Amino acid sequence: MFTIDDLADRLGGYLPADEIQQVKRAFYYAEQAHDGQRRRSGEPYVTHPLAVANILANMHMDHQSLMAAMLHDVIEDTGVSKQALSEQFGSSVAELVDGVSKLTQITFEDKAVAQAENFQKMVLAMSRDIRVIIVKLADRLHNMRTLGALRPDKKRRIARETLEIYARVAARLGINTIRIELEDLSFQAIHPMRAERIKRAVASARGNRRSAMRQIQSSLQQSLDDEQLTGTVIGRQKHLLSIYKKMRDQQKPFAEIMDVFGFRIITEDVASCYRILGVVHNLYKPVPGRFKDYIAIPKANGYQSLHTTLFGQRGMPIEVQIRTREMEAMANNGIAAHWLYKAGQTAHPIAEGSHARARAWVKGLLEMQRHAGDSLEFIEHVKNDLFPDDIYVFTPKGDIMELPQGATVIDFAYSVHTDIGNNCIACRIDRHLAPLSTRLESGQTLEIITAPGARPNLAWLNFVSTAKARSAIRHALKHQQQSEAIMLGRRLLNKALASFETSLEELDESVFEQAFKELDVASLDALLESLGLGNRMAHVAARRLADVAQGAHLDQGRLQSSDKAVVISGSEGMVLSFARCCHPLPGDPVMGHLSVGKGLVVHRSECRNLAELRNDPDKLFALEWSEEIDEDFPVALRIEIESRRGLVAELAGLVTDADANIERIGIEERDARLSTVNLTLSVKGRVHLARIMKRIRNLPSVSKITRIAN
Ligand code: MN
Repeated sequence: MFTIDDLADRLGGYLPADEIQQVKRAFYYAEQAHDGQRRRSGEPYVTHPLAVANILANMHMDHQSLMAAMLHDVIEDTGVSKQALSEQFGSSVAELVDGVSKLTQITFEDKAVAQAENFQKMVLAMSRDIRVIIVKLADRLHNMRTLGALRPDKKRRIARETLEIYARVAARLGINTIRIELEDLSFQAIHPMRAERIKRAVASARGNRRSAMRQIQSSLQQSLDDEQLTGTVIGRQKHLLSIYKKMRDQQKPFAEIMDVFGFRIITEDVASCYRILGVVHNLYKPVPGRFKDYIAIPKANGYQSLHTTLFGQRGMPIEVQIRTREMEAMANNGIAAHWLYKAGQTAHPIAEGSHARARAWVKGLLEMQRHAGDSLEFIEHVKNDLFPDDIYVFTPKGDIMELPQGATVIDFAYSVHTDIGNNCIACRIDRHLAPLSTRLESGQTLEIITAPGARPNLAWLNFVSTAKARSAIRHALKHQQQSEAIMLGRRLLNKALASFETSLEELDESVFEQAFKELDVASLDALLESLGLGNRMAHVAARRLADVAQGAHLDQGRLQSSDKAVVISGSEGMVLSFARCCHPLPGDPVMGHLSVGKGLVVHRSECRNLAELRNDPDKLFALEWSEEIDEDFPVALRIEIESRRGLVAELAGLVTDADANIERIGIEERDARLSTVNLTLSVKGRVHLARIMKRIRNLPSVSKITRIAN
């Protein structure tokens, strides 16, 4: 049985003694935490993390990754907390373990294949530290190797998830040794019979071709030696899934697929790659159009190599790949080659943050292909691939939504459905209530709480980031303004009709029809909306309606407005606003001015702006405050005060004690002794304001306080 001491021996090849000691400590910790737990095979559970660490050791991963591998199931399967791990092994290891646990919690289940790509991206997005993914891949690899006695349907489900997600993530990161093994193990679990048949066919084909392979290999090697080029020629095998896919997708018989001899030549440097290419093209005739230069133009995952196909004896194709040792490491281990490479050479590249490490990796690539053409574009590509700009979150049903980085709860709600956005009032993120403005992170599960009749808020526009949410909110607000305008228009028109001793309810359909023609409106709602928005005057419309109703002109005497005032309830919404010149408060005598496009603007009766508007009495309305208003209103104060330290703090404390808020504060020094403080507060009403002003006035340093009315 493979033991921790076997692993320690193996680590001795590339890690210093103190780091090996830490890996052992993590093993003993995991052994204790999993004590009593067994794998399905009956072995002690800790054999699994040990095997995962061993896979990583073969890739020469750093000691922190190995420690995380030892501990990767501890949070999930035993009672140990992240905090406890952090105290024992430091925060980097605890973060790695936590990251792996989070990935483990996501299950692919039987989601549509269309979701698979999002899953892959999500896995990447969730793991800012690439080592999290590498540990997770090793974990999945060991689980696939030990699928053993699971029920066939369960095996198939895990295998499908492995193919759709983990094998592709491995491919994206260029970790091909793991990708190929994951693919073959999955293929064998999904199609055991077909895999077995192909395996047997490969073995017998290999036997038949052994002498031909050996002959080509030695003539390739000989021609390198003749030119004094250093290079090793290796025979290459196709793996099971790739053979199967070719048979299935290209409808080719097995014999034809196996009818290719594959070789790889590993050499010292880039220049030798091109020289070797020349040598092999000299030895065998190249197949036109089959040469590919992935050294000059690497693949997105960093893969570099020269590919060519040659005509062998009797026209048998020979596929040859030529690359340096670095490129070979890259082709096998992809991003993980970074660790493989640095180990033993220079100091450990690990300690810094994950971003720095990714950057170092990208920089490494840059150096590896300094001779290449447009490498900047390539680097950008790799970065985008590794750290996608999008985030991926779940609906309560487990569907994945893709949103741009920076998206908030509101963006999510609108991306699910416009109605859900419009009626959204609260939200749970991972089952905890959270503000609607919360920025989302990949992997979260969101549940939107809606209420019928709830409406979007203008303030949402400040934090949404998707165009869909933005335009839906604008549209809903416009619609809302429309219905509020209709409601206000109805009140204004009824008030005007009262002076003709009638009301909308008393008029009948035929009156409306005729009056609409004369007023040039399409419907009652259209009329009410334009009244509410102040585009049309209620008196004019009322007179027209009354005229039609009575079939006669009314005498002027009856046209005086009724004394009944319109009551402001505070719920008029967007068609009622409070003038900024005089800041009216509940309790102040007020007048309403109907202004075009804005609806009713409330001014204090004493406001100077109102004096100018009095020339236009048809647009002025007497208003009254409803008693039920319970809102905060802004009010501006000017305070003359002796300059001294601590003055603002004192004022602020006093205002807060009086249950009011300071909206804005400005201080002008008049001279060395006196200052003027301009204060904007929000208060409940006139009485509340009077109380606050009295308190301020009582401060010894205050000489004068006035409420500003423009
Ligand atoms: Mn595991």
